[in-house]
Amino acid sequence: MGELVSSYYQFNAGSTNYPKLQGTQDTDVCILGGGFTGLSSALHLAQAGMKVVLLEANRIGFGASGRNGGQIVNSYSRDVDHITARYGQAAGDAMAAMMFEGGEIIRQLIEQYQIDCDYVPGGAFVAMNAKQMQHLEAQQRLWQQHGNQQLTLLDRNALADIVSSDRYVGGLSDGLSGHIQPLKLAQGEARAIQSLGGQIFEQSPVTRVVRGKTLQIHTTQGSVNSRYLVVGANAYLSHVLPELSKRNMPCGTQIITTEVLGEARCRELLPANYCVEDCNYLLDYYRTTADHRLLYGGGVVYGARDPADIERLIRPKLEATFPSLKGVKIDFSWTGNFLLTLSRLPEFGRLDNNIYYMQGYSGHGVTCTHLAGKVAAEALTGQAGRFDVFAKLPHLPLLGGRALQIPFTALGAAYYNLRDKLGI
Ligand SMILES: Cc1cc2nc3c(=O)[nH]c(=O)nc-3n(C[C@H](O)[C@H](O)[C@H](O)COP(=O)(O)OP(=O)(O)OC[C@H]3O[C@@H](n4cnc5c(N)ncnc54)[C@H](O)[C@@H]3O)c2cc1C
Repeated sequence: MGELVSSYYQFNAGSTNYPKLQGTQDTDVCILGGGFTGLSSALHLAQAGMKVVLLEANRIGFGASGRNGGQIVNSYSRDVDHITARYGQAAGDAMAAMMFEGGEIIRQLIEQYQIDCDYVPGGAFVAMNAKQMQHLEAQQRLWQQHGNQQLTLLDRNALADIVSSDRYVGGLSDGLSGHIQPLKLAQGEARAIQSLGGQIFEQSPVTRVVRGKTLQIHTTQGSVNSRYLVVGANAYLSHVLPELSKRNMPCGTQIITTEVLGEARCRELLPANYCVEDCNYLLDYYRTTADHRLLYGGGVVYGARDPADIERLIRPKLEATFPSLKGVKIDFSWTGNFLLTLSRLPEFGRLDNNIYYMQGYSGHGVTCTHLAGKVAAEALTGQAGRFDVFAKLPHLPLLGGRALQIPFTALGAAYYNLRDKLGI
């Protein structure tokens, strides 16, 4: 059991303090994991009148949800043209109908529950070369065709209104994107769940699940009897459900945050206050914070834990993008894990018909986790259609299982790094 990672977010938001589960609870749905997947599931279920108990091993937002770049990125890690080509028109159309909904859910929850999480609308993808620019042109056509009319293609000059950096040949801005302080959003969602009568327990790791018509979900000091279990533990799931944890690759990505730069300097770097991510496979992503720091993430490195190592990895990327920040003081460095599937599409499904799981957002999970919770809640209240659109996407298990995950990740990172360098 751990406290929150020492990050800018933790410094800025503090941490929650829900009780440990002790004794036995009876509920309709037990939720494992206090990240966006678990929180969105619990919140949508509580809104539908279900009795919910959420169990978090550490603190709300301990995992990727309280550590990420805070970028609201639409669609999925593989876009819907790929889904259509690979899995057919019906699957592509059904996924396309939901591709902007995750961001909409976030905006709606912020509004409905008055969650103060520093939300700022607007984001941009930036291209390092002509090939990436062609990709953005195709993305604009695709996303417009599916209803996003807030996209603007930017040449090098126009991009200067969004990012002051010489690194890019152009970009694509998305008014339906934006950024948030993710830990504050997670904590606000937890408060909303509680306001609807949902129960939240922290420092209560699920250690054993006894399967059956009524599930018995055991933690270190208590247990929950429940009709259903929703698992939202993503890259942080331990051995408790090995069928789920052995399938995919946990990958690490790192973020650094500068000292306070002041508003004027922040607006020199990012005049529109949009969040930005580049189009590389091992992408850089950055934005400024409400208290006017630059928050910069990048790379995929498994196992980097030491803040000095993290700064050594990410500082050169930050300085390459913004040379005027050479030597800037870094106040915070941290790492977090996300879960990569071989298909790079999220993996939703059921075990024994009463255990639901959603995981493997492959790096872009802020929006899809929120959609995941909504469609899981629909499925548990009798409308499984949209959950099953995801559940039917085929997934290859990771051959070799967990033993091969770390070497695979390192190998994959090296391969993608080479592709980025060669511009292919
Ligand atoms: C550094 C970083 C930057 C990222 N940036 C972005 C971004 O800008 N935009 C974007 O779209 N995506 C981003 N992502 C991905 C995104 O953050 C994740 O896809 C998403 O947050 C996953 O949410 P989750 O709820 O499924 O899992 P998590 O947030 O990881 O939560 C899982 C939770 O389950 C708990 N848990 C595990 N085992 C147990 C157990 N046995 N019992 C009880 N609880 C348990 C953990 O403690 C944890 O709190 C980033 C990821 C990282 C790591």
